[in-house]
Amino acid sequence: MRSTFPGGLRVQLLIGLSVLLAGSFALAAVLVENVLTRRLLAAQQQHLEAVVDVASRMPPAVRGVLVDEAVVDALVVGDERYGPPAVVNRLQQGEASQFVRVQEALYLRVAREDVVVALRVDSVRRDVADARSTLVVFGLLVVIVVLALGYGFFSFLVVRPIRAIGVATERAAQGDLASSIKIVPRNEIGGVAQSFNEMLVQIDRSRDELERKVQELEQANTELETTRDSLVRSEKLASVGQLAAGIAHEIGNPLAALSGYNELLRDGELGHDESDDLLRRSSEQLDRIRGVIRNLLDFSRDEAASEPAPTSLAQCVEESVSLVRASARGRDVTFVVHEVEGPPVYAVSSQIVQVLVNLGINAVDALSSGGRIEIKRFDDDGVALLWVEDDGLGVPEELVQRIFDPFFTTKDPGDGTGLGLAISARIIESFGGELSVTTSELGGARFVVRLRHAEVEDGA
Ligand code: ADP
Repeated sequence: MRSTFPGGLRVQLLIGLSVLLAGSFALAAVLVENVLTRRLLAAQQQHLEAVVDVASRMPPAVRGVLVDEAVVDALVVGDERYGPPAVVNRLQQGEASQFVRVQEALYLRVAREDVVVALRVDSVRRDVADARSTLVVFGLLVVIVVLALGYGFFSFLVVRPIRAIGVATERAAQGDLASSIKIVPRNEIGGVAQSFNEMLVQIDRSRDELERKVQELEQANTELETTRDSLVRSEKLASVGQLAAGIAHEIGNPLAALSGYNELLRDGELGHDESDDLLRRSSEQLDRIRGVIRNLLDFSRDEAASEPAPTSLAQCVEESVSLVRASARGRDVTFVVHEVEGPPVYAVSSQIVQVLVNLGINAVDALSSGGRIEIKRFDDDGVALLWVEDDGLGVPEELVQRIFDPFFTTKDPGDGTGLGLAISARIIESFGGELSVTTSELGGARFVVRLRHAEVEDGA
């Protein structure tokens, strides 16, 4: 928090007012002292002028009366009986100044022709000093009263409303928008308080609006996630449908063999060894059928979304290739799986199988009159790259950007949903990876799945 002046605004005001008032009174005192001195001296001067006037008309012998009667303190030229000699001497010397200081005493001097009179004016100074003391006492009283009144007014008009604004601001900063400012004086500070209260109401309204928007967004997000999950599921089911068409063929062959073996056994013309051989072969065919169906069931299972974990890419490749290979049986497609062992990647295995099955089905579809599908793996700098490529027609340059768009398909209606690559790319991206396409050296398309090694993710 910002440090404040000790005592706050009030003490600052008291100091400011004190300095201001003390300065004003000092100035007034100097001014009053000056004016007062000049006025008093002018009165004395007038008085002396009158005395000189009278004295100049008096015979020199009686002029001393003026001193005797204490009309003046010093005297008349030539008559040494009156007044302190020093004053007389100095006066006789014809001082140019209006004032004369003899020892400690100050005299006002007025001269005309041979008459010179002087009057002690120390009393004037004393009167002025008395007046100054009175002024100082009065000034002090005024300062105290003004300070007390100023303090009260200032506290009431400024400090109290400002404090109220401060408290309300702090509460608002802590999220309490309900407590508005109660003290609203009818002045500029009141205007600020009023605006502040209006602002609180406005912020409160905006906050409600924001909360409503956030709730709507959260709901929309949940709906989007649900829609996305159901899209992933429906795309998976579409793949199951595509796989099933091929797999029906795959199952058809062993079933035909089984029915043949069954006929032979039922005839009962076979020897013991031959019967045993047929039973062994039947069992092999049944295992083959069971294996294919289990793979398809595993793939089509609607698993709850699980958290990404270290996953064996090689195992995902094996599962997906066996499914796609089974579905492509009867078509002239060769699968070549190169070395795919390597560090585990950070993913969910069932989703990686879904991606690879989709890439495999697409590759098979691209090989209308048969061909090769190759799978290779490279590892570099904490990243696994899996190539799924074929020697089919490839992806035309102008479609490279569009094939990842949802609902983009070049297949006949009913054959393709246009969602396979969009969903596959989304799945790979959710693991921090990337799905891209280039041209394969085999002549067709090369899809590149890029996934991070699990250790790198764990270590991060
Ligand atoms: P669908 O398979 O339902 O059409 P996809 O999103 O999986 O949807 O694929 C979109 C399009 O990408 C396909 O219609 C096809 O034109 C193109 N495509 C995908 N894989 C390949 C491939 N291996 N070779 C050539 N074209 C491909």
